[in-house]
Amino acid sequence: MKSKSTAKAASKRITSHPSTASTNGNSPKPKKMLIGGRWVSAASGKTFPTYNPATGEIICQIPEGDRPDIDAAVRSARNAFENGPWRRMSPSDRGKTLWRLADLLEKHTEEFARLESLDNGKPLAVARGADLPLAVDLFRYMAGWCTKMLGNTIPISVPYAPGERFHAYTVREPIGVVGQIIPWNFPLLMAAWKLGPALATSCTVVLKPAEQTPLTALRLGELIQEAGIPDGVVNIITGFGETAGAALAAHPDVDKIAFTGSTEVGKIIVRAAAIDLKKVSLELGGKSPNIILADADIDSAIAGAANAIFFNHGQCCCAGSRLYIQNKHFDKVVDGIASAARKIKVGPGDRPDTEMGPLVSEEQLHRVLGYMRAGDKEGAKTVVGGGRLGDSGYFVKPTVLTNTKPGMKVMDEEIFGPVVCAIPFNQVEDILPIESDNVYGLAAAVWTRDISKAHRIASELRAGTVWVNCYNIFDSALPFGGYKQSGWGREMGAEVLDLYTQTKAVCVRL
Ligand code: ADP
Repeated sequence: MKSKSTAKAASKRITSHPSTASTNGNSPKPKKMLIGGRWVSAASGKTFPTYNPATGEIICQIPEGDRPDIDAAVRSARNAFENGPWRRMSPSDRGKTLWRLADLLEKHTEEFARLESLDNGKPLAVARGADLPLAVDLFRYMAGWCTKMLGNTIPISVPYAPGERFHAYTVREPIGVVGQIIPWNFPLLMAAWKLGPALATSCTVVLKPAEQTPLTALRLGELIQEAGIPDGVVNIITGFGETAGAALAAHPDVDKIAFTGSTEVGKIIVRAAAIDLKKVSLELGGKSPNIILADADIDSAIAGAANAIFFNHGQCCCAGSRLYIQNKHFDKVVDGIASAARKIKVGPGDRPDTEMGPLVSEEQLHRVLGYMRAGDKEGAKTVVGGGRLGDSGYFVKPTVLTNTKPGMKVMDEEIFGPVVCAIPFNQVEDILPIESDNVYGLAAAVWTRDISKAHRIASELRAGTVWVNCYNIFDSALPFGGYKQSGWGREMGAEVLDLYTQTKAVCVRL
């Protein structure tokens, strides 16, 4: 993820007093947030705008939650955890409830896709074809786990108690009240990645969506109620990171924080959580190597490399932003990806032929343009793209850079935009030391027809995901998360359950 400054957004905050009740669908009325089953304004009455990134216009006002709202939401989550029916519900009923939520979300796919495209800027077809089905599938996958939270029976020996017999077993119990702080690049999907496992394991939640993209999380809150998830189990507080987010991360009655966002903010969260040793899981930034060997199917590697960097406008923590190409095919691949970049139809997300929408915010626009200028200044060659597209909305040109090397900002730092550095190499052994210096380790990819090379390189790369002859393949059953400064813990798959449960050992003398 990108850097954390919200100065721009903060400077545009507008204070108003929403007086009308509203649904959280696509209506211009001020939204409300969810605490203990009730839709409420911020205690302060303040609101802030969320923008349409294709035009820079305000969509609607959002409650500006802060510490008092977080306090109320945590109280409600605590009460629901300790005293409510959620934890006591049979695993099968809990699973059915989650499945119902998935069904409701699927039924409202079109509405959610439109809302996501409006608020985030992504093409409607992408929201419809990727974000929504992945979110629906995640809730279904997690619904299945409700009935499979197994412990072990353990034959113990107890060397200092000869002749005695014991029956020992473990149970997995929910961690409790979880604070979840999510980013703006896949707003609904990140909410699903967080809520799915928390709910499957009977935790209760305070969710804080990103200030840039709160709309789908709020609408999801309504479906959560409709699905029959009891009041207080999921509370949703909208607001800024430095206020609402920080209050959640530091709250003494929160048992765990799950965060997806920038590495910079991840470190702030760890410091806040350290005060009372909350559990923390983090999914952070990346600068992922995408390695094309000379023996690869070059056409499919070119298409894959374009997808790796341009999907979601490069606003992916796992974007393939370091494109290593073995010398023999360097020119061919650079020409191929440059030509793909030229053909991408950049436009508002709601146009049927749009393939790439605007960046999410004015702040992000300036950040990405800043990297393009830094590349120029440090001697990178812009093969295609570079700069802003048009003068309204937050559009940039898909960009391919060459002449980049470690030490340059564009090569070392996460840009979080559609900008790729293409780097020639002679042999893989030349890349590995550069990659072992990469502070990130979220994802990597290798393109080759040599299966043994593929596995060897996969084992050398220190990354949480390695794709071979593909990129951006995600599945609810496949764990995702970072090595090194890309994070702590794995989301999705069976492994995510470890993030939301703790093990109790029970020992019975027979
Ligand atoms: P980005 O720069 O892409 O917005 P961030 O890491 O800043 O990425 O934001 C991801 C999420 O973290 C958002 O929900 C944001 O509000 C929240 N956030 C930002 N700063 C803080 C903070 N100091 N404490 C807690 N949450 C924060």
